[in-house]
Amino acid sequence: MLKENYEEVQKKITEACKRAGRNPKEVTLIAVSKTKPVPMLEEAYEAGARDFGENKVQEIMDKYDQLPSDIQWHMIGHLQRNKVKYIAGKVALIHSVDSLRLAKTISEEAVKHNCEIPILIEVNVAGEESKFGVSVEEIAKLPAIHVEGLMTIAPYVEDPEENRPVFRKLKELSVDIAAKNINNVRMAILSMGMTGDYEVAVEEGATLVRVGTGVFGERDYSKR
Ligand SMILES: *Cc1c(COP(=O)(O)O)cnc(C)c1O
Repeated sequence: MLKENYEEVQKKITEACKRAGRNPKEVTLIAVSKTKPVPMLEEAYEAGARDFGENKVQEIMDKYDQLPSDIQWHMIGHLQRNKVKYIAGKVALIHSVDSLRLAKTISEEAVKHNCEIPILIEVNVAGEESKFGVSVEEIAKLPAIHVEGLMTIAPYVEDPEENRPVFRKLKELSVDIAAKNINNVRMAILSMGMTGDYEVAVEEGATLVRVGTGVFGERDYSKR
C-alpha cells in the first residue's frame, strides 16, 4: 500500500509539473517519515524513496544507523542549537534555519566535523510580520554552510488553493534574493508543499515537497 501511495504522489507531482510547464526532474519528493517505524521507511526505500524528512534529532540519529547510507536525510523541524552537533555530517539539508544564532551554531559544528552543510532559510510567509526573521547576507558570510534556498510551512487550510498566494510569495522572495547575487547564496531550492497542498506548491515552483501522510498514512502520536 505504501508503494502505491508513493507512486500516486509521484504521479501527481508529474501531473502538476505538466500543468505548470515544468520538468518533473526539478521536483524531489521528500518522504516525511517522522514517528514512523524503520520497517515502513524500508518499504518506502524499496518503492524508490531516497529522501526522507524528520523533525526530531533523536529520530534521525536512530534511523540513520539502521537504514541504507544512500539516503538523504532532511531536517525539517525546529532545531535546537545544542542538538546540531548530533546531525552535523549526517543530514543532507537543514530546512528550518530561522535565526542567525542557529546558523552560527550550524556553521561552527560544520567546521568541527570538517563538513559543509547546505541550509534553507525558513520564512513565515503567511505571518503578517516581516517576512524575514534573519538576514540572508549575515548568514551567507558564515563558514562551511551554504544557503541553497527557502522553505516555508504554509498554514493548514481546507482548500489548497488558499495557500497558492503563500507559495507564490515564497517564489517571489527567492527570485528577489537571487537577483541580489549574494556570495554563497543560491536560490535553487524551494521547499514548500505538504500532503494537503503539494500539487499547488509544485505549480508555483516548489523543488522539494515534504509529504508525510500522503506516503505513510496518518501519524499516531498516542503511543508517545
Ligand atoms: C510533518 C511535516 C510535514 C508533512 O506533513 P503531512 O501533512 O503529513 O504531509 C511537512 N513539513 C513539515 C515541516 C512537517 O513537520
